[in-house]
Amino acid sequence: TPASQLHFIGQIVRDDLASGKHSVIHTRFPPEPNGYLHIGHAKSICLNFGLASEFAGTCNLRFDDTNPSKEDVEFVEAIQRDVKWLGFGWAELRHASDYFEVFYRSALKLIRDGKAYVDDLSAEQMREYRGTLTEAGRNSPYRDRSVEENLDLFERMRAGEFADGAKTLRAKIDMTSGNINMRDPAIYRIRKVHHQNTGDAWPIYPMYDYAHCLSDALEGITHSLCTLEFEDHRPLYDWCVDNVDLKNHPDLWQPLVDAGLSTAPSKPRQIEFSRGNLNYTVMSKRKLLTLVGENLVDGWDDPRMPTIVGVRRRGFTAASIRLFWERIGVSKQNSIIDMSVLEGCVREDLDAAAPRRLGVIDPLKLVITNLDAGHNEELTFPNHPKDESFGTRSVPFSPELWIEREDFAEVPPKGFHRLKPEGEVRLRGVGIVRCDEVVKDADGNVTELRGTLDLDSRTGMPGSERKVKGTIHWVSARHAIAAEVRLYDRLFDVVDPDDDSDGKTYKDHLNPNSRRVVQGYVEPAAAGATREDRMQFERLGYFVADIADHTADRPVFNRVVTLRDSWAK
Ligand code: ATP
Ligand code: MG
Ligand code: MG
Repeated sequence: TPASQLHFIGQIVRDDLASGKHSVIHTRFPPEPNGYLHIGHAKSICLNFGLASEFAGTCNLRFDDTNPSKEDVEFVEAIQRDVKWLGFGWAELRHASDYFEVFYRSALKLIRDGKAYVDDLSAEQMREYRGTLTEAGRNSPYRDRSVEENLDLFERMRAGEFADGAKTLRAKIDMTSGNINMRDPAIYRIRKVHHQNTGDAWPIYPMYDYAHCLSDALEGITHSLCTLEFEDHRPLYDWCVDNVDLKNHPDLWQPLVDAGLSTAPSKPRQIEFSRGNLNYTVMSKRKLLTLVGENLVDGWDDPRMPTIVGVRRRGFTAASIRLFWERIGVSKQNSIIDMSVLEGCVREDLDAAAPRRLGVIDPLKLVITNLDAGHNEELTFPNHPKDESFGTRSVPFSPELWIEREDFAEVPPKGFHRLKPEGEVRLRGVGIVRCDEVVKDADGNVTELRGTLDLDSRTGMPGSERKVKGTIHWVSARHAIAAEVRLYDRLFDVVDPDDDSDGKTYKDHLNPNSRRVVQGYVEPAAAGATREDRMQFERLGYFVADIADHTADRPVFNRVVTLRDSWAK
């Protein structure tokens, strides 16, 4: 990337390398395994892994697993799959829980240094003592316990002697600080719950603000990138790193050496950037969990979900997601991005990458009467109009075709250039057909069209240059394969489903028409796709063979996105 195009974090990294502050950079992506990753996480993934690769550094994947009650191995595994699918590889896979022993020893050090104490105040009392933005906090009556007493109590907390919530270890900083995060924050709490990685080994768990910065330091992270809401936490981040001082206390991280985990403690720098937000969706894990838990969607990978597994199943490419976040850039400005920007990225990617196929999603029969009923042809179609390297395929053609119902109008509106009684239209790759007869059922519904093909307008014939205004797609009824086609719209019907100021929540704004399932027909080459193959059904949009349900006999396609323009409307 040219220097002028680097975002502000890229510039910091470049300067740190140029000045010799770092000879190599290390970043990390630190998800909490309490849900599936979503498009917003992809921003952080692209940023962290992208910087590492751009500046020849490394990026770790670290599970920030310090809050065991909400965490699960299902999420741990899904997160790894998703990061890989997005196209990234980590230098090392770590867990904050790999460091529990180091965190514990570090806490003992803080106590010995007179910088941490065991508090007996309840959570509610602690909140009360903490004060407010305009009012200083008050010291806890337990703040002046002796080092010996604190060591004894903390060791007994670790031994499981006390009940959940009975005691807390707090950093001793400043109850009058203007920054509430610095008012003796809790760094350990008692939680007698099973941990997905460490089992029942620990009855106490470190708090995020204490564990995160020390994890960064232990892994030698140089640039610790996080979202803006942590800006106010940065002084605490630095306080923990400086006061634990892992760099100068190798005894603290000896357990990692013993376990064979490489360690080169750094003084990491926290840098904040703005969250990526999209309109017409929600991205809080709590809300996504609720949608799944209450069956408001068909699971985490429902193609309408903003999760990585969801957009993947919908047919978005990893390249389009990377392109999207690259385009949006990285800054400290909060903004809500229009879903159409993401859709534009996938169109751009698939326009170049997806072969073209023919499929009909609302079929109407068209019979060509001037060909023998048994007539059978194999036509050769280019797979891509702009890229010969896609090659060609053979498309069967016979006199009975399926065309799109909306490509016929008995009473055509003004400017309608498709098929109408007595009208002509070009059948894609075949020639010009004229509608001679409209067949209806007893209720007056059109059930079939009958027409003649102008044989002189066929490819290679003298009349092939003759112009008609419209061109429509089709599939040969005899050869077509019935397919289930899933058409999607936005999951929510309001721009900002998070806005509950009118008393309605995101659950009240689910779009009842966000999924429509139709039975269509596709040409054999489309049916033969393998799961996750993407293609453009001409004039209909980009589609993907469903990752779970598609088979060659019973094809299932999801529409990724419609085409911006269709060539015959
Ligand atoms: P939630 O608040 O929904 O639980 P989270 O931010 O707590 O999400 P984490 O698992 O902690 O989820 O996130 C892992 C990393 O991804 C963090 O560094 C976080 O800042 C980043 N991240 C999460 N959401 C976004 C987003 N919308 N845009 C950019 N980065 C994000
Ligand atoms: Mg979270
Ligand atoms: Mg978080």
